[in-house]
Amino acid sequence: MVGCMRKGYCLGIESTADDFGVGIASFEGEILANVNHSYTPEKGGIHPREAARHHAKVAGKVIEEALEKSGIKIDNLSVIAFSQGPGLGPCLRTGATAARALATYLGIPLVGVNHCLAHIEIGKLVTEATDPITLYVSGGNTIIAAFEAGRYRVFGETLDIAVGNCLDVFAREAGLKPENGKALGRIVEEMAIKGRKYITLPYTVKGMDLSFSGLLTAAVSLLHEKKHRLEDVCFSFQETAFSMLTEVTERALAHTEKREVLLTGGVAANKRLQSMLKTMAEEHDARFCGVPREYSPDNGAMIAWTGILCFKHNLTVPVEKSFVKLKWRLDEVEVPWVGE
Ligand code: AMP
Ligand code: MG
Repeated sequence: MVGCMRKGYCLGIESTADDFGVGIASFEGEILANVNHSYTPEKGGIHPREAARHHAKVAGKVIEEALEKSGIKIDNLSVIAFSQGPGLGPCLRTGATAARALATYLGIPLVGVNHCLAHIEIGKLVTEATDPITLYVSGGNTIIAAFEAGRYRVFGETLDIAVGNCLDVFAREAGLKPENGKALGRIVEEMAIKGRKYITLPYTVKGMDLSFSGLLTAAVSLLHEKKHRLEDVCFSFQETAFSMLTEVTERALAHTEKREVLLTGGVAANKRLQSMLKTMAEEHDARFCGVPREYSPDNGAMIAWTGILCFKHNLTVPVEKSFVKLKWRLDEVEVPWVGE
């Protein structure tokens, strides 16, 4: 644990999908800056090369803004961290290129951070959770995980699409638009609040894993039938998807007997999901730890903070070996700092 004796700052770059984020954290865990710039496709879902082009275009500006906000000089940085995976190849490579250039120019170490791990670690930092069951729900991932024997073990995950992606595709099929910078999931949430009637939809939990593709197909055909109010379809869609997530998280909680439930990822902003998990956690005498909106979707601060944890344990990577890992699983990562 050589690095833990030093004081310093880490600049972290997030670029796994549609967001290009830059965060700056101190070794003591203070977040000094967290600046994000999102790519919004004109039509349809994320096009990886177009998103990467967006990231390359805004990278310099976002890095500059983060440094300005942090109040520290570029020479005060001691580590550069980047999202090394999992994610979309062109997007990951753009962030990695910027990180390598900075680390080389400044002559400081580089850390490749696992994106899913970073969501958990920033969540723990900002909610003061110590050993939670985590439900991580986003546009690209749906994972129920907890720490056991040196790693975060995946207790359950999606077998097909992520719940955030499922919500976004459904919203586009329903003709909903991301107005005023609001995420599509948020627009579905606002519609669902006005829903009154529950329409049965496929509820697919297989062992500890989940599947959302049947739910999506059935919800889209309900839209085409035009027999129901859109508000009721949104309501039924959310109730079904979130009950599935709550069920698996509850079983993982009961099995591990953890005392905290951490909810993170972009979908964590959803009030209905928060309330279901909170009720479930309280029934098990566990504390519900919802990650605030600033740190729950993809962001640079989580990469900066996890970069510091890795750096303190000498988990740096030479520039020439810093390849991105498109399918890097959470349970492959060594986590030496937990339980120290
Ligand atoms: P991330 O991949 O972590 O950046 O999160 C993006 C995902 O979060 C997208 O699928 C959004 O539609 C979803 N999202 C954002 N806000 C909400 C909300 N209030 N309810 C449900 N999903 C949301
Ligand atoms: Mg995102």
